[in-house]
Amino acid sequence: MPEKILIVEDEARIVRTLRLYLERAGFEVTAVSDGKQAIPAFQKEKPTLVLLDLNLPQMDGLDICRDMRKLHDVPIIMLTARIEETDRLIGLELGADDYITKPFSPREVVARIRAVLRRAQHSSSQNDTLRAGALLVDLAGYRVWLGDHQLSLTQSEFDILAALAAHKGRVLSRLQLLDATQGIAFEGFERTIDQHIKNLRKKIKTAIGDLPVIDTVYGVGYRLDSVDL
Ligand code: CA
Repeated sequence: MPEKILIVEDEARIVRTLRLYLERAGFEVTAVSDGKQAIPAFQKEKPTLVLLDLNLPQMDGLDICRDMRKLHDVPIIMLTARIEETDRLIGLELGADDYITKPFSPREVVARIRAVLRRAQHSSSQNDTLRAGALLVDLAGYRVWLGDHQLSLTQSEFDILAALAAHKGRVLSRLQLLDATQGIAFEGFERTIDQHIKNLRKKIKTAIGDLPVIDTVYGVGYRLDSVDL
């Protein structure tokens, strides 16, 4: 699948040039020309990376960048009209991954996109820990911490906690949790999951006291939210 770039830019000439170079470089390109279309396009197209102009009609590039960041963790490169703007933006620490000042050479844009994508892919492949507030799950090392307390868990308890942390804030059914432990559904397996959860809660309580870490959602399953110690 080709990597998809969303361009948010109101200057048609710039869009034409970028599209030409990006498509030649093997990217798929979608472009919108004002701020209002940016977020709907972002959600519909699910781009690999966004090129976002700062000065747009309808909605400011800064606000769009913030909104996109809240939705998905996709690399964003801001396009700015002046070098002073770039300096100001970097000061704001918006979370854009790179800034390109106009006028730019399209070749440079392609190179910067490739560099940002390489960096993003590298950091996600290194991502072998899960975090939910004070809860840290080290998937590679099979270790779990709650704040400073390391928990000593069985394989199944670990798998269940990791699955809940990976889907933080969402309810997982007992069947989904069983899948996470690579167990096989049999009559009574629900009670087995409940027992693992009970043991987990006991160990969590021993470590940090009576804080609710794993919620029971009656009739549905279990949920873990961010843990505040
Ligand atoms: Ca503009």
